[in-house]
Amino acid sequence: MATPKNNYKFETRTIHAGAAPDPSTGARNTPIYQTTAYTFDSTDHAASLFNLQNFGFIYSRLGNPTVSVLEERVANLENGRAAVACASGHSAQLLALHPLMEPGDRIIASQNLYGGSITQFNHAFKKFGWGVDFVDATNVKNISKLIKPNHKCIFIESLSNPSGIILDIEKIARIANNAKIPLIVDNTMASPYLFKPFNWGADIITHSLTKFIGGHGNSMGGIVVENGKFDWFASDKYPSMSKPTESYHGLIFAETFGDFGYSMKIRADSLRDIGSALSPSNAFYFINGLETLHLRMERHCSNALKVSKFLEKHKKVSWVSYAGLESSKYNKLAKKFMKKGVGPVFTFGLKNGYEAGKKLINNIKIFSHVANVGDTRSLILHPASTTHNQLSDSQKNKAGAGPEVIRLSIGIEHHQDLIKDLRTALSFV
Ligand SMILES: *Cc1c(COP(=O)(O)O)cnc(C)c1O
Repeated sequence: MATPKNNYKFETRTIHAGAAPDPSTGARNTPIYQTTAYTFDSTDHAASLFNLQNFGFIYSRLGNPTVSVLEERVANLENGRAAVACASGHSAQLLALHPLMEPGDRIIASQNLYGGSITQFNHAFKKFGWGVDFVDATNVKNISKLIKPNHKCIFIESLSNPSGIILDIEKIARIANNAKIPLIVDNTMASPYLFKPFNWGADIITHSLTKFIGGHGNSMGGIVVENGKFDWFASDKYPSMSKPTESYHGLIFAETFGDFGYSMKIRADSLRDIGSALSPSNAFYFINGLETLHLRMERHCSNALKVSKFLEKHKKVSWVSYAGLESSKYNKLAKKFMKKGVGPVFTFGLKNGYEAGKKLINNIKIFSHVANVGDTRSLILHPASTTHNQLSDSQKNKAGAGPEVIRLSIGIEHHQDLIKDLRTALSFV
């Protein structure tokens, strides 16, 4: 399928990249190819597909025409070379690491990650023999001090969920580059509209499609994107990429597939064996969600700025942590890396702590009390009484989930209704 190259503007590519009218029916919107399998022309054709000598669809765990349109579109929007979609953001993180890691290898990860990612890294990955060293990456020296030969990648979030911390990605990419290991950036919170990690030296991007790319809180999905520039032969650290793969008759992925070897390795090996394929129906929702990404993000950001300014002045609010505000210590980095805005997810503190948090949530009307972000609807959460309830007080504070903390994901409703709703609920606090 023809993909408009990057000479079209982002807004045009959100609508057209990767898609063309269906060649057999003329259907203008990308159809949902709700099929498990695809017929082979002959036994030779089938064998050539299975041996990766020919491109084509075999079985929807490995690839599906609707999912392919989504993969091409996201790769295009991220200025990447290729992408592999899968069933969730967490699955994307597992797939991104799978070709890089052997038992005993380690990852350097920012300590300011989405809570679920910290749990995944600490518990599930440990069972594969993968170790994780969490660092405070707001000081990049902490990374260069720590880095050892058995570290196989650096993993960070471009805009951390929920506290909105922005790291100096350019400097971190330089450290990764010097160590000849890839920098992986979870770009979920920014979306490719607000931030392009590849433009600042990242090698691999992961997304939870569940959030802003889908945008409507209706489907789970994830994706891994590669920029195609990482040199897998620069060291002997990545045998899965640079040495023969037994299950494909000795094929060397980085050699045979060149600048999309990593995506091919994920698809043909990791996705094949781990099995977390994205359903074509969910791919359809994400393709349609992407078509309004730029419009939604603009409104999310302008609404969030207005709401955060209202909260900053409110007498029952002790602090607001939003990189879009001048008062944020991340505002300078925000202006450098995310000129169009810093998304709509942020936290604020209530003067009267735990009880105040509960009262606010119990009196709010438009905001939905859910554990999600990136919906058209405005969302609210009191981490201390919900997602972080099991932690000790000191653990809560370290995770940015102290008793007074409220997390918001501002939707695309009218900002005056959102502010009115918060003002009323705060009057009960
Ligand atoms: C939600 C989220 C994830 C996990 O994605 P799922 O689709 O829920 O598996 C990873 N990273 C960030 C930043 C997220 O917000």
